[in-house]
Amino acid sequence: MNEAGHRGVLRGQGLRCTPARLRVLALLSASARHLSVGEACSRLGQAGKSLHTTTVYRTLETLTAAGLTHAVPGPGPIRYGITGEPHHHTVCQRCGYVAALATEHLSEAVDRIQELTGLRPDARGALLLYGRCTDCSV
Ligand SMILES: [Zn+2]
Ligand SMILES: [Zn+2]
Repeated sequence: MNEAGHRGVLRGQGLRCTPARLRVLALLSASARHLSVGEACSRLGQAGKSLHTTTVYRTLETLTAAGLTHAVPGPGPIRYGITGEPHHHTVCQRCGYVAALATEHLSEAVDRIQELTGLRPDARGALLLYGRCTDCSV
C-alpha cells in the first residue's frame, strides 16, 4: 500500500496522518519481517527518517489499538506487523524473528485444529508456530 492508501486507512480509523504514523506504516508494509520498536528505529535511521524511540513506541501502540498493525509476542521484544493480507506467524524461539505465513497455505491445518479441539481459529490468522529460524538452526 502506498502513502495515499496509508492516509486513507488512518483517516478511516479517525486518526490524524502524522509523519510518524505514515513513516511507521510505510516501513512495516515494505518489511518482509515483523519488527520490534528497536528494529523499526534503526531501519528508519538507516533510511534517513529517524524517529525517537518513544515516538515509534507510541505510534505502534496507537496503530495497534486501531487494528492497523498487530503485535506478536515472542522471546525478546514484541514484534509488530502491518495488518493486511491474513497471515499466521512463525516465531524463532532463539532470536525472536517473526515471519508471516499466508493463511491459504494452512487452511487444512486450521480446519483440522477446529475438528480436533473445537476452537475456531480467527480467519485473519491465529496460528503462532514456534521453532528455529534458518539463521539459528545452523
Ligand atoms: Zn503479522
Ligand atoms: Zn532465529
